[in-house]
Amino acid sequence: MKIKNIVVGKVEAPLITPFKTALRTVHSIHNIAVYVHTDVGQIGIGEAAPTAAITGETLGSISCAIEQHIKPAIIGMDIEEMAQIMERIDNSIYQNTSAKAAVDMAIFDLFAKHHQSPLYQLLGGYRKELVTDITISVNDTEEMVKDSIVAVQRGFHILKIKVGKDPAGDVERIVAIRDAVGHAITLRVDANQGWSPKQAVQIIRTLEDAGANIELVEQPVHCHDLAGMQFVTANTLTNILADESVFSPKDAVTIIEKRAADFINIKLMKTGGIYQAQKICHIAEANGIACMMGCMLETKISVSAAAHFAASQKNITMVDLDGPSLCMKDPIAGGPTFDNDRIRLTDAAGIGFS
Ligand code: MG
Repeated sequence: MKIKNIVVGKVEAPLITPFKTALRTVHSIHNIAVYVHTDVGQIGIGEAAPTAAITGETLGSISCAIEQHIKPAIIGMDIEEMAQIMERIDNSIYQNTSAKAAVDMAIFDLFAKHHQSPLYQLLGGYRKELVTDITISVNDTEEMVKDSIVAVQRGFHILKIKVGKDPAGDVERIVAIRDAVGHAITLRVDANQGWSPKQAVQIIRTLEDAGANIELVEQPVHCHDLAGMQFVTANTLTNILADESVFSPKDAVTIIEKRAADFINIKLMKTGGIYQAQKICHIAEANGIACMMGCMLETKISVSAAAHFAASQKNITMVDLDGPSLCMKDPIAGGPTFDNDRIRLTDAAGIGFS
């Protein structure tokens, strides 16, 4: 099965409610879809999310990276030469991880179709059902409490609370949500780099003393402030999760060596796809660091690829794949089923789109 052509298109999906973090506000998903055509008629599908604030990529930069750099590097190659294809994609252009991720997942889709196997089974097949959290956007306390109650009523048991935009009000927000949803609901907090190291320690300790029972705090400080991450991790009892600080396997090694976090959040848009994500997951596993599988604002196309990867790995113990739950409707049929907080893998070959 040889790669014959790569076609770049668009995928759009309006959100149920605006997605707000310390870094941005988004009303509708506008992403890139990628179709890798082969000489036997099979098509692999991928998606890239332009998250300029995090990966530096835009719709224009992603399509240019794919059309002008990635596509010419792998056209004509055989799907069986997986490691060589991945090496060529990686070397075709510096960074541009979301563009690489879209092509990477389309190649994995084809590889699994070629072997007539669901992708998650080919990658290790550790489990076939995942439980995801859902994001609560950063807003004033009243609105966040209301959104949290709606999410619990929708059937979600784990909430990821976005904070970091107004540090002075963050303890109040989180405690109000805990009081409203009770202790049977798991709460994760994501500051999206919005706190200073000392602010983070103060906020997290206050939450600990208040008995807010937070499962983890994600990326409390700036992504490049590894000394700050280390300071927060060393001076609090709550688990700290590195997100924006870890893109590559090398970043994972650095975070682990510096003990700058307790967990690592793997997102295909940061790693450049499944091939590099596997390395990060295995490095973390060998060092006793559990991983979360996360996503950017992505539709069912790329979140399904992430779900296959998450299901395949023992070391991915936390799942934040709420993209499809935030969209009004899916742009594609087939793939894993997303039913409130349950994601179930199916027996369809590849990623499973019909
Ligand atoms: Mg995050």
